Amino acid sequence: MKFVNEYRDPSLVRLLAEKIKKTAKKNWTIMEVCGGQTHSIVRSGLNKLLPDNIQLIHGPGCPVCVTPIDLIDMAIAIALTPNTILCSFGDMLRVPGSSFDLIKAKALGADVRIILSPIDAVHIAKKNPNKEVVLFAVGFETTAPTNGMTIKMANDLKVVNFSLLSSHVLVPPAIKYIMSDPESKVDGFLAAGHVCTVTGYKQYHELAKATDTPIIITGFEPVDIMQGISLCVDMLEKQETGVKNQYSRVVKESGNRQAQELISDVFTVVDRHWRGIGSIPSSGLDLSSKYKTFDATYRFTIKTDAPSLDSGCLSGMIMQGKCKPSDCPHFGKKCTPQTPLGAPMVSTEGACSAYYLYCDKGSS
Ligand code: SF4
Repeated sequence: MKFVNEYRDPSLVRLLAEKIKKTAKKNWTIMEVCGGQTHSIVRSGLNKLLPDNIQLIHGPGCPVCVTPIDLIDMAIAIALTPNTILCSFGDMLRVPGSSFDLIKAKALGADVRIILSPIDAVHIAKKNPNKEVVLFAVGFETTAPTNGMTIKMANDLKVVNFSLLSSHVLVPPAIKYIMSDPESKVDGFLAAGHVCTVTGYKQYHELAKATDTPIIITGFEPVDIMQGISLCVDMLEKQETGVKNQYSRVVKESGNRQAQELISDVFTVVDRHWRGIGSIPSSGLDLSSKYKTFDATYRFTIKTDAPSLDSGCLSGMIMQGKCKPSDCPHFGKKCTPQTPLGAPMVSTEGACSAYYLYCDKGSS
């Protein structure tokens, strides 16, 4: 297949649903890791085409959702610092911090700018040499290369008023963390195809062995996802673990070497707190010592209060596959895209926003 509409072909999707129904003899729970896949599943109604013995649960792959409150509080404090411009993608502006969000900071007079590309932040810094310009860099391995590129660019062009507040997270440690929970219900994973485009999937062989699960590298269109589920169910029924690559039209086992080299030059692996989930060892990226002067946490001396907990938001439970958005008592009532109580209702990759947009409110 060559064209995107072929990967959205309803007749192919239905054929794959039939195949899954015939193959699946036992009950299996499969987690799609990426929020982009969650949206595709719910938008296309794929979950409703599956037999009752196949459950899909939603994983932690929404970078906006897992950005810890203390980093949002820090971004807000930086934005409110005089002579500072904070650049961010639009999703982050409505994610609640301890007291308020970046939109409120903007309303209070902070210069918060929505950018379409991280490189825009370097251009803004060049145009505003008398101001500090900070890029709030959020994302998985997918966005780390472009955010890393801003540091190389600022370094090469000697843009000394540019810095980066990193909230980068890594997928494999999160999968390991989810499977280390004795209450985990996950039998198999659909891994995020775009992440593996960068990283490749060599390390996923070890991960599949360590977690005793099948991991299918999967794309984002309905046919991709149904093929991923079909491969996963097939392996589960045969009691196989290991890795299969459904997204082979894009992902190579070795990934993108240039992007990997850039990430390891600019960033260093650190422990990271995931909002609603907790601290996961070696699951984040901060700037490496070589580029420390571009680190906003180094450049700004900001002390934020200990972050307060999300009241009643079940985002952490949802992102570990322990419940669904429709299980949250606030879903569609106190919490809507206009009045979000938690990040998964704000983000275009959040499970709660997917359910709100594409399901009957209160149903799954
Ligand atoms: S519906 Fe709102 S409050 Fe409930 S889990 Fe989702 S984001 Fe949190």
